Amino acid sequence: MINVTKTFLPPQAEYQAILKRAWDLDWITNRGVLVKELEAKLKTFLGVENILAVTNGTLPLQIAIKALGLTGEVITTPFSYVATTSSLVWEGCTPVFVDIHPEYLTIDETKIEAAITKKTTAILATHVFGNPCHVEAIEALAGKYNLKVIYDAAHCFGVMYKGESLFNYGDVSTCSFHATKLFHTGEGGALFCKGEVYQTLFYHHNFGHKGQEEFQGLGINAKMSELQAAMGLAVLPYMDSILSVRKSQSQLYFKILKELEGVQLLKIRNGTEWNSSYFPIIFENEEVLLKVREELNKNNIFPRRYFFPSLNTIPFVDTKPCIISERISKAILCLPLYHELNNNTIVEICDSIKRSI
Ligand SMILES: *Cc1c(COP(=O)(O)O)cnc(C)c1O
Repeated sequence: MINVTKTFLPPQAEYQAILKRAWDLDWITNRGVLVKELEAKLKTFLGVENILAVTNGTLPLQIAIKALGLTGEVITTPFSYVATTSSLVWEGCTPVFVDIHPEYLTIDETKIEAAITKKTTAILATHVFGNPCHVEAIEALAGKYNLKVIYDAAHCFGVMYKGESLFNYGDVSTCSFHATKLFHTGEGGALFCKGEVYQTLFYHHNFGHKGQEEFQGLGINAKMSELQAAMGLAVLPYMDSILSVRKSQSQLYFKILKELEGVQLLKIRNGTEWNSSYFPIIFENEEVLLKVREELNKNNIFPRRYFFPSLNTIPFVDTKPCIISERISKAILCLPLYHELNNNTIVEICDSIKRSI
């Protein structure tokens, strides 16, 4: 069976050798040596100023919203995973959806200004499939209206934009290290930021503890454990190879599928060194997508409808039309893409798509 993704598992002996260090120290959580080592190595690997390892990719969104003191309305994208929207609602903010750019699939920066009201406190946007938002335009708007900016950068491990880690943009960026993501710790994630907000994020992720008996303020528990960090340390040495294999896999997909009439492929923003985290393909409509999916399923290939549905249509938000996001989310499939996927299978997948449209 060929699934949309397959978790990269490092050689078990290598994972166990790292775990042994936790056993030797009798220390499996509360920021032990492995979490600190993972943070230090990721900081160098990614080229970021601050990183805080956390237990998944959703709590960092909630913590960022809390740490930046967001209230009222937050401008956000309807084309993302549900966590982007649910984190806002969970933290008592109202998501205000702005439609997406039809080719980049990120929030349409030219439509943001019209959605700003007196109640707007921030913009929470997703770098979709590792493709950067128009960060310069968003930063300019944030400056003009005094708004905070959070990027859901769950897909952005290893992405460089204009010579810098994409995690360095915005007041806070978040990443997911879930098993289905490019780099993973089983479950896990991280917060990235520059400057003073780091300290606030840090307190928030550990109950607000300032020492054992004193509290700086409100907090929650989002600490990464040593067991998670051990997985990250075992996977990290393979990341250069994973990224380069992905690059050639996505180039092969691109080369074959770009010849196909009536399908749209992701347009990557200029200045981006992309990480090939997903390979999305957009069909003319949902009917074609369902036909293609049926044919692929028959051949034991299981792509994923991602992102679907458009978040402006989920039950716990005020429904407001976002025509482009709704059209694309109904017509987009992410094709299988993972380290062990071989070129012959990619060719077969493409053949199967060609046959069915
Ligand atoms: C995966 C993902 C998340 C959530 O991350 P978890 O680690 O699963 O909590 C949030 N946003 C986006 C865009 C994602 O793809």
